[in-house]
Amino acid sequence: MTNHFIDLILPLPLQNTYTYSVTEEEANFLQKGMRVAVSFGKTKMYTGLVFNIHTTAPTLYEVKDIHQILDETPLVNELQLQHWQWIANYYMSSLGEVYRASLPSAFLLESETIISKNIAFTEESILSDEEFLIFEAMQHQSQLTIHQVADILGKKKVMPVVNSLIKKSAIFIKEEIYETYKPKLVKYVRLNANYNSDNALNTLLEELSRAKKQREAVLSFFQLSTTKKPIKAKDLEKSANVSASILKSLVDKNIFEFYEIQTDRIQFKGDTNDLKTLNEHQQKALLEIKETFTKKDATLLHGITSSGKTEVYTKLIQEVLDAGKQVLFLLPEIALTTQIITRLQFYFGDQISVFHSKYSINERVEVWHNVLENKTKARIILGARSSVFLPFSNLGLIVVDEEHETSYKQFEPSPRYNARDAAIVLAKMHKAKILLGSATPSLESYFNAQQNKYGFVALNRRHGNVQLPKIELIDVKEKHRKKEMTGHFSDRMLKLIQEALDEKEQIILFQNRRGYSPVVECKTCGVSPECPNCDVTLTYHKYKHELRCHYCNYQRAMPNSCAACGSNTLDTKGFGTEQIELELKDLFPDYKIGRMDLDTTRGKFGYQKIIGAFEAKEIDILVGTQMLSKGLDFENVSLVGVLNADTMLNYPDFRAHERAYDMMVQVSGRAGRSKKQGNVAIQTFNPYHKILQQVSTTNYTEMYKEQLQDRWQYKYPPYFRLIKITLKHRDYNKVDTGVNWLFKALYTSFGENVLGPTAPAVARIRNQYIKNIVIKIPPKQSLANTKAQISKIRNTFEAVKDFRPIRFIIDVDAY
Ligand code: ADP
Ligand code: ZN
Ligand code: ZN
Repeated sequence: MTNHFIDLILPLPLQNTYTYSVTEEEANFLQKGMRVAVSFGKTKMYTGLVFNIHTTAPTLYEVKDIHQILDETPLVNELQLQHWQWIANYYMSSLGEVYRASLPSAFLLESETIISKNIAFTEESILSDEEFLIFEAMQHQSQLTIHQVADILGKKKVMPVVNSLIKKSAIFIKEEIYETYKPKLVKYVRLNANYNSDNALNTLLEELSRAKKQREAVLSFFQLSTTKKPIKAKDLEKSANVSASILKSLVDKNIFEFYEIQTDRIQFKGDTNDLKTLNEHQQKALLEIKETFTKKDATLLHGITSSGKTEVYTKLIQEVLDAGKQVLFLLPEIALTTQIITRLQFYFGDQISVFHSKYSINERVEVWHNVLENKTKARIILGARSSVFLPFSNLGLIVVDEEHETSYKQFEPSPRYNARDAAIVLAKMHKAKILLGSATPSLESYFNAQQNKYGFVALNRRHGNVQLPKIELIDVKEKHRKKEMTGHFSDRMLKLIQEALDEKEQIILFQNRRGYSPVVECKTCGVSPECPNCDVTLTYHKYKHELRCHYCNYQRAMPNSCAACGSNTLDTKGFGTEQIELELKDLFPDYKIGRMDLDTTRGKFGYQKIIGAFEAKEIDILVGTQMLSKGLDFENVSLVGVLNADTMLNYPDFRAHERAYDMMVQVSGRAGRSKKQGNVAIQTFNPYHKILQQVSTTNYTEMYKEQLQDRWQYKYPPYFRLIKITLKHRDYNKVDTGVNWLFKALYTSFGENVLGPTAPAVARIRNQYIKNIVIKIPPKQSLANTKAQISKIRNTFEAVKDFRPIRFIIDVDAY
């Protein structure tokens, strides 16, 4: 008799897969990509993923049996597994970490997973006996772990029961507990069975001869029922022109019954429309893109703001859909708003599914299944970075919009991947094409295009031939000297604002700092209140009258006096969005001022509400942080103001200048998009700064050439690659000893290409001390060998008992 084994990926940072034994029958049933519940360690249960099925017993450890099989067909396909392996390998993470990052957590039950009851769930009759037992237990105890579920049922194999409860929406898993959940139940109306005979209508109308409204409702019901489709209560109310209470009284009389059907949460209602006709420049760009695609897999579209890149994308998407293939449309998280969703739904209707971390787990599970089954409604996935992990089987095109955006990079937790780069690899695996689009391409992508690695297409006209905005630089040093400043506004800025308001146009003001002021300082002794958990000063939030840490969220009331010397001479320094908002309210009391930053956009719809209000022109002046610069399209904005360009330029990072350029050009791009040329005013202490000059002429190529020279000279990407290692621990001495040891070991291998060790600008966050080492990899040095060497050093490091508790973080392409 042969023994059968499976290798499983476990959702843990383990370097290898883990082998379990299965029966012959199980081995025959199982396929790669199915989930299996197993125990690992002493008592823990996990959801593993089948990676391999074979007959070779492992030699190093004794195999265990599996608990049970969780899927009937694979949940993850072969191409995904290949892609995961690339990610794990390239970003130096484990396959288990990629597995954990890829699947919505509802697919990854483990013994510590906490489940909670869905209070809105009432259909107890659809639960099996075991399911009901759990559900009932939750009347008394609102949360249970999977472990406790096993105790209640008196058996170990409980994952299918829990899975089924999730599927029926009777329970949630923990992540969702804090989200107010509204199950998408739609209320329908049907006739009570007593009235199912032919002369039902007559009987009813007689019964209701005195109740005019109710009669109306019944008549309408019979009209609607000729279509033989379920009748929604809402539709009936509308067509009969009666209120909900009329229907309710008919239900009370046992004439009607209400029932509910759970609808798919991701649903589009409405007609689709024809694609716009491209203008001549867009048409030319489209042809050029297709031409490059005959030779290259990836093409960069450098299209200025408001040139209509989205319209060009839609044409390509349509062609790929016509060829029966799937499309992935990637957007930075923050740009993923109703604006773009509605815009694409306008053309493609319910062929679009959205995949987004602000959506509930249940919604994400639904999208996963729809993609896996290649359903029509998931032909186009519009998603943030994690949508590269979806189970595509048949991708034809990936669009990466705003490809320069840093939010494509995941920093925490591992895998620390860049979704744009992972998408390029994904496209290759599917033999699909990929289009990167931006008005301010990342230096790396532009470089790749220049090197002929990517195709390149430019789109240099705004749609409708609207000119790019006029950009002027305002020298605030001068303005201060001449006493022409009111608060943080120069007279020039105020004049431009007033002019725009007089024309009933809207204004966007950009200040890349939230709160009222980032530093509070005592005028007597010079001490600033700092966060007790981080090495950083606290930001003053005037509205709530409190001090807050932007790194760990620590908050406390604003003190009346200085904690160091006791004087009540606390003063604020610097300014954030909140202060600007308050100044504006004073300066323009007759206009509506809005603010968009992290503090005003929490919650699933926070961001949308502000954008919606601005679109509806309920807000005249919108103040905000960089959130404002992300691909939004408002037709009535004629002025964009940048209140302080200098903080962006002085940031200690090799990409600071590139980023500052991107941010200012992008936010400027929000001005004058539809009719006449817009205005941009930038306040700065350094009007002669190179970057500001380049922004004011929107001279991307000059910025590119100059930055590229610096990159070459100082050995940075795209010439050199960077791997960053970060160590963290509560005990400063421990990190310090560890990092010095590590530096020496790395130096022996890589010499002067190892930089550090350094402490970051904020050297302690959440009570963890932080040290960094950066390894630069010259163009000719083998990446694979370098990584192998780093792994080896890491293993030695972690074998030292003293160093083991130190968190060791590797970040490949750490920018
Ligand atoms: P980008 O993404 O390049 O900044 P958009 O695609 O948002 O530009 O286009 C800017 C605006 O111009 C949008 O409101 C869009 O609907 C409109 N527009 C672009 N191209 C066309 C076209 N060919 N026909 C009609 N309207 C267009
Ligand atoms: Zn003091
Ligand atoms: Zn803090």
